[in-house]
Amino acid sequence: MSRFWTDKIAALDPYVPGEQPQDKQYIKLNTNESPYGPSPKAIAAMQEQVTEKLRLYPDPNCQVLKNAIAKSYAVEPNQVFVGNGSDEVLALAFMGYFAGGKPLAFADITYSFYKVYANLYGITPDIVPLNDEFDIVPSDYDNLDVSGIVITNPNAPTGKALPLADIEHILKANPDIVVLVDEAYVDFGAQSATTLVNQYPNLIVSQTLSKSRALAGIRVGYAIAHPDLIEGLERLKNSFNSYPIDRIALAGATAAVEDEAYLADICKRTVTTRDWTVTELEKLGFEVLPSATNFVFVTHPDKAAESLYLGLKEQGILVRYFGNKPRIGNFLRITIGTDAEMAALVTALKNF
Ligand SMILES: *Cc1c(COP(=O)(O)O)cnc(C)c1O
Repeated sequence: MSRFWTDKIAALDPYVPGEQPQDKQYIKLNTNESPYGPSPKAIAAMQEQVTEKLRLYPDPNCQVLKNAIAKSYAVEPNQVFVGNGSDEVLALAFMGYFAGGKPLAFADITYSFYKVYANLYGITPDIVPLNDEFDIVPSDYDNLDVSGIVITNPNAPTGKALPLADIEHILKANPDIVVLVDEAYVDFGAQSATTLVNQYPNLIVSQTLSKSRALAGIRVGYAIAHPDLIEGLERLKNSFNSYPIDRIALAGATAAVEDEAYLADICKRTVTTRDWTVTELEKLGFEVLPSATNFVFVTHPDKAAESLYLGLKEQGILVRYFGNKPRIGNFLRITIGTDAEMAALVTALKNF
């Protein structure tokens, strides 16, 4: 607290990311990073950028990257927006499309940054609880009086996915407001709503290179939507920071998006390891929610999540524990690492 803080700063409730401890080498299964490196082509493209050319500003419009994304999703480049991580894409979308006075609808159990942005922009959340199975119920979004809707698909931290028909139900029921579908984990096994952007001018789909493309370190995310919604995001971005994506990140992200074979390969490896992990955790008595992501959300009938979290940490394994959150306080979210890391996790759990 400083006496120079405005009331606005004092009232903020910032996001708390998963621990990134520097004290020792942990097996990090707590922030949904990829255990595999990014595409070797992306690494090479980034290395090529480390020259005297870095004295120059990057392309503020990210055109080569937009072209690559557009090609990959079969949309036009003017249907693509690029941000410094999808967190920035979300921040701008909240500011531009949801800060209109009415509340914003999102689930009670979902990405916790939505509440932080809502608070930052003075948006009242209209919390729509998941059902008892932790599913989003599309008809719950039928008759809301809101400025917009955010759906995470697959959802985090539950890992559960909605079929595209359910996303379409929500879009059809809400033609006059923006529906943002956050697809941070879609590559691990859900259907993407990017195929719907030409049909629904109220749809924004956001994705990230941080999870499936193993590039959390360069901070690139993007949105795909109708050109008018994209232009709105560009106007905001260019009123805030014209160059959020640096030269190195632009080159790496473009090469990563173009290397679809590598993406498919590491996603497949993650899914195989996930299936093995689920089987092993179930053998140990865990309840595991069906996951379409690179993490599993688990609870144990006899072992408190807190003691499992602390015991694993002591054994050098970090998982995400949601101690203070209603409904999920006895759950752990465990990122899918390499086969060896998951074997170490199972061994460590057997010690309990
Ligand atoms: C990780 C994550 C993001 C943010 O990704 P960045 O691109 O790294 O900012 C957004 N939404 C959800 C649901 C996530 O899990």
